[in-house]
Amino acid sequence: MGRVPRAVRSGTKAVLARLAGPARGSRPRVLMYHSVDRSGSLISVSPERFCQQLEWLRAWGWKTLTLSEAFGPSRSEWGRAVVLTFDDGFANVYTEVFPLLRRFGMTATVFLVTDFVGGQAGWHARDRDVVEGIVASLPATVGDRAAHLDRLVRMAREPMLSWSQIREMGEAGIEFGGHTASHPFLPDLPPARTEDEIRRSTAAIADALGAAPRFFAYPYGADTPAARACLRAVGCAAAFTAGPAKRVEGPLDSLAEPRVGIPGWQGKADFRFRLSRAFDRWQAAR
Ligand SMILES: [Zn+2]
Repeated sequence: MGRVPRAVRSGTKAVLARLAGPARGSRPRVLMYHSVDRSGSLISVSPERFCQQLEWLRAWGWKTLTLSEAFGPSRSEWGRAVVLTFDDGFANVYTEVFPLLRRFGMTATVFLVTDFVGGQAGWHARDRDVVEGIVASLPATVGDRAAHLDRLVRMAREPMLSWSQIREMGEAGIEFGGHTASHPFLPDLPPARTEDEIRRSTAAIADALGAAPRFFAYPYGADTPAARACLRAVGCAAAFTAGPAKRVEGPLDSLAEPRVGIPGWQGKADFRFRLSRAFDRWQAAR
């Protein structure tokens, strides 16, 4: 077989890179992760797989932005950019994710459950009925549901970030957003308790980092009118569900913004698909 001239090879790579990338003018995709660990839980991605994903992003010319860098008033050029978000604030964001982000020159936004900072992710056991509902709603392709439920409930023992780890990452450019004080299922709460959850977590982050969080993610992805009203009152710039994207253009202005979940049980091809234009078309058609 003859050698492929270098110009042809680099031209082919450029065409493939364009096809793999976002449509022109579309805003950065907001990817949703939770925990980077080897438990195999539904909210976990292994450190090896996460590292491969960052390697792939770098190889194909993607940059990462925080939510403020992507959507704040003095936003960066979008180009080929993604926002990596991590819900809950597991300690492995410091031990596994942060070293990789530094190695790759990348960044992220982390949503904190402020009452559990320095503790363990106890709500996974406390809200067993909600967790059971989530597992029951999954497609059959995820496999053994009882095993998934067991692994998710065991996440209750996972250690969470400490305030000193949060401050250290904040000084290195990682952004922190709100995810309530105690991770309740908001549709079950009366409005006064919803307001307390949001105001208390906002104040805790402002106390620790010197500024109130600009962004928020709803626990279990479940937003409510009371939560939206309170987030508006505390000056939240945008709030995120776990839902699929219908729109890919224009500024971020809503209190129910979608994200793209990255399932830990899927491989490289699925990750690439979730960053492609084909994924946008597939989501819009659902
Ligand atoms: Zn959460």
